[in-house]
Amino acid sequence: MSTDAGHVLLREVWGFDSFRPGQEEIVRAVAGGRDVLAVMPTGGGKSLCYQLPALLRDGLTVVISPLIALMRDQVRALAAAGVEAGAYTSANTEEENDSLREGLREGRVRLLYLAPERLAQPGTAAALKRWGATAIAVDEAHCVAQWGHDFRPDYLRIGALREALGVPLAAFTATADEETREEIVARLFGGREPQVFLRGFDRPNIHLGFALKDQPRRQVIDYAKARKGRAGIVYCGTRNKTEVLAQALREAGLSAIPYHAGLEPDARRLAEERFQREDGLIVVATVAFGMGVDKPDIRWVLHADLPKSVESYYQEIGRAGRDGLPAEALTLYGPEDIRLRRAQIDEGGAPEDRKLADHGRLNALLGIAEATGCRRVALLGYFDEAAEPCGACDTCDRPVDVFDATLPARMVLSAAIRTGEWFGKGHLVDIVLGRATDKVVARGHDRLPTFGVGKDWDERQWDAIVRQMLGQDLLRPDPSRHGALRLTALAGPVLKGEQAVTMRRDVLRAKGRGATRDEPRALVAEEDEGLLAALKAHRRALAQEAKVPAYVVFTDKT
Ligand code: ADP
Ligand code: MG
Ligand code: ZN
Repeated sequence: MSTDAGHVLLREVWGFDSFRPGQEEIVRAVAGGRDVLAVMPTGGGKSLCYQLPALLRDGLTVVISPLIALMRDQVRALAAAGVEAGAYTSANTEEENDSLREGLREGRVRLLYLAPERLAQPGTAAALKRWGATAIAVDEAHCVAQWGHDFRPDYLRIGALREALGVPLAAFTATADEETREEIVARLFGGREPQVFLRGFDRPNIHLGFALKDQPRRQVIDYAKARKGRAGIVYCGTRNKTEVLAQALREAGLSAIPYHAGLEPDARRLAEERFQREDGLIVVATVAFGMGVDKPDIRWVLHADLPKSVESYYQEIGRAGRDGLPAEALTLYGPEDIRLRRAQIDEGGAPEDRKLADHGRLNALLGIAEATGCRRVALLGYFDEAAEPCGACDTCDRPVDVFDATLPARMVLSAAIRTGEWFGKGHLVDIVLGRATDKVVARGHDRLPTFGVGKDWDERQWDAIVRQMLGQDLLRPDPSRHGALRLTALAGPVLKGEQAVTMRRDVLRAKGRGATRDEPRALVAEEDEGLLAALKAHRRALAQEAKVPAYVVFTDKT
């Protein structure tokens, strides 16, 4: 397939910046008309692996799926994204069927979901042929396995449908055991070997690391110099920076070239070719670099700026070490990165719910960046894959120094609640620091019990605390309130004293400051007690507002 077209659709139809682990390869194979069996964890994003190719290919893609509710959900979601899709199920009204058949006859429908029971009806294959079916996708393909827990006899008819239509088939499941796989291959593909995609998300040969930006240019140069002669990619947030950093690396005696979408196509091609061919070349690039790159021996990926989501991060580091030999990934980040990424999301012109999701994806990445345990566990956890501490990441190498940050976290949560969740980080920090700014005084926030309770720490440290709270998803910016920080459901247990919060101590020591004091002054007793009452009153007030986002609604017990 043209990967570019795939990425455009990914962004424009689904609103995703990058593929999830494994998706790109599968999409490419399915779009290319291969028979495919893909085993991917639940939540891994299997639907996209047949939906996107359906839009890349001509004709109609038939999707067999076992649950009517699921089908209808997907059709609705696709319709909302402007994709013409339909579901043929027993739950349809005659009207729905009529308009669906019309869309099919006119060739407008790109995806047709079919309940397996439909296959039992005579004439189905002939009709699908008439409507120009060019591919079959089978969701929850383990339903064809007799000994599996979800056996659906009608799934046994799929093999005959494939033969009748003579089109490629792509089967998807999260159930990976070998016996089931064999049964799927025998029954769906008539014994012909499909291309099998079977892997968890882990890339154990890539060492993972994050570091705060200190002297960013120095850090990049030192890192690259220490790896001289080994091919690497430096990812930057802007085109300009790729040029500047490539120049700096050359001046440091390294062989480095810039790469970004603003270069002439010829220059881009040349850069790709050089990278492929030359040993130890460094490409300093924006995210535009990598799609067409298939170099197995990239030894390191350095993010000179924070990526925008876990998905982007995973995909970009995943370009290292495809040969399975040891490789490294390091990500540099600082408060400016976070500000920049947030601004990009807020000013990006996407609908509000998509902005919220993008903030969430950024928060998840921050959570990994400031993880207090193994980074791989945190990263794989994001993709719902369980893992043991890996021994091949910076936090496993050197366990991070953590401290119990429940108290400062509660101070910030308290400040947020007592100000109605209408303010951003700066104002909340002013309150806990006891700064009587005009804004604080004008709103009477200098009279809050929380005012000045956090004086033992300085502004930079409070910034770091709030950032870690964002990373741990205790607070989330609400775009409909100009990015005001609001509590998430995770904040409830912290406020109620049921859940402790740990944070990294090193993050508090940015820029060569001395050691931080161990504990901030305790919340004044009155505040500690008054907090839950305030929270309760606040929730009541919120509930009276028409629109209460589900994620901030607590139970009665709060
Ligand atoms: P599965 O069927 O494998 O369990 P789904 O197809 O239901 O997974 O997708 C799980 C979730 O992941 C969905 O919310 C989907 O929108 C999201 N998702 C899929 N692909 C991506 C991607 N490339 N980037 C971000 N989110 C994605
Ligand atoms: Mg699914
Ligand atoms: Zn680890």
